Amino acid sequence: MPSRAGWPTEAPCIDCGNRTEGLLLGERCPMCQVRRERRASRLAGRIALGAAVLMAGYLALRPLPGGTSGRVYAGVAILITYLLVRKIAAVIAIQMLPPGHTGTTE
Ligand SMILES: [Zn+2]
Repeated sequence: MPSRAGWPTEAPCIDCGNRTEGLLLGERCPMCQVRRERRASRLAGRIALGAAVLMAGYLALRPLPGGTSGRVYAGVAILITYLLVRKIAAVIAIQMLPPGHTGTTE
């Protein structure tokens, strides 16, 4: 990385503390970053599933336009809820997750 010349190019990862070349202060090493994204993605998937179930329950309780179109709208609404909540929850989770357990949490 030529643009980082003059800066310390080896800082400790804020999660695991390993010094990695090219890392800046306050950053995570690639391993921790990947691990964190995976955890956030799993968490977001669970939250999104819960939100989709809630949406399905809400739609089941309220009157829908009859026939096939009502079911199509309900399906689309549930799908959109799942995708949106998953996306938003993943972004928030990456920021909010506590510093990773460096051990295996799988
Ligand atoms: Zn790390």
